[in-house]
Amino acid sequence: MQPIQMVDLNNQYLKIKNQVDEAVLDVIASSKFINGPAVQEFAANLSGYLKVKHVIPCANGTDALQIAMMALNLQPGDEVILPAFTYVATAEVIALLRLKPIMVDVDPKTFLIDISKIEPAITSKTKAIVPVHLFGQCADMESIMQIAARHSLYVIEDTAQAIGADYTLGNGKISKAGTIGTIGATSFFPSKNLGCMGDGGAMFTNDDELAKRLKMIANHGQSVQYVHDDIGVNSRLDTIQAAILNVKLKYLDVYAQARNHVADFYDVAFANHPNLLPPVRVKNSTHVFHQYTLQTCGIDRDHMRKWLAEKSIPSMVYYPIPLHWQKAYASSDFPKGSLPVTEQLCSCVISLPISTEMSSDQLEYIVKHVKDYCKEFAK
Ligand SMILES: *Cc1c(COP(=O)(O)O)cnc(C)c1O
Repeated sequence: MQPIQMVDLNNQYLKIKNQVDEAVLDVIASSKFINGPAVQEFAANLSGYLKVKHVIPCANGTDALQIAMMALNLQPGDEVILPAFTYVATAEVIALLRLKPIMVDVDPKTFLIDISKIEPAITSKTKAIVPVHLFGQCADMESIMQIAARHSLYVIEDTAQAIGADYTLGNGKISKAGTIGTIGATSFFPSKNLGCMGDGGAMFTNDDELAKRLKMIANHGQSVQYVHDDIGVNSRLDTIQAAILNVKLKYLDVYAQARNHVADFYDVAFANHPNLLPPVRVKNSTHVFHQYTLQTCGIDRDHMRKWLAEKSIPSMVYYPIPLHWQKAYASSDFPKGSLPVTEQLCSCVISLPISTEMSSDQLEYIVKHVKDYCKEFAK
């Protein structure tokens, strides 16, 4: 059995090595490292795949979120609603732009923003909602878009973990994650479902004017060379990364299938287990399983992780500390205890290895040891 990793990027690479190497060498030979042809090719390919009018590449997923908020002209003091159970980047860009992050709790079963908590958090200062399609399935976009319409709010989808997921709207229309709201923001960090070999990100929108602004802000606020209409940033996707992504995009659906295969295996193995609750799949979205995250109960999660590590089984906790407990984001508006589901999840979740290249002996080994741990140590 090959050593188990949280994400096996090397074996994934080896399967497409020739194509990736050739794409990278082509860029090197062309010397067009910045804004070379592969960047626009990739934007066009991704826009075709997502069926969204505009894809604007940028340097990483955090920038994508930041540029999205800059393009919408949000002003200091404006409030932006986000789930408390997410990666820090979602809150970070809000705070960085001197907007006010309004954290709301998540649904304990799906880990996604709790729809019933959104409207009570809306004030006259609220300008946007940032749903996070956490772990690979879509938040309840139908309800979120309805709430946004009622209150004239923008919706910025953080789809860093869910690229490729399909969401079915009430009218039967199927849309890709990140293409339903005002702007979608994603990341091509190596371990993401569509990962490059460095940093990368992109924004999606169907709005022509907004697409122009996103592009301009990502390029120093420059509309024409050396003409700066707005304060912008410098955020580009490297040509080499775009060339790699052009190869990997072709496999994105196959990768999602492989991840689902792993998730199905775990689901069956842990069904009705007294100490482990498998992730619940929502109705209107497919799941691309960026992470496979279980809730534990009646066991010491951190002790289990150490014990598994001794058996060479890596695991992770996404996320161990609630945002509102972090020094940088603590606020008297969100004291300890105010977001109880998030707080509980941070104490009990565990993510098991999931990747496109896992073998059945690796999966059986993981499942056996996780179950053995529970048998031996459950309180
Ligand atoms: C990875 C991630 C980001 C940030 O992406 P980077 O490319 O690392 O900047 C933002 N939000 C979520 C939910 C993520 O998982």
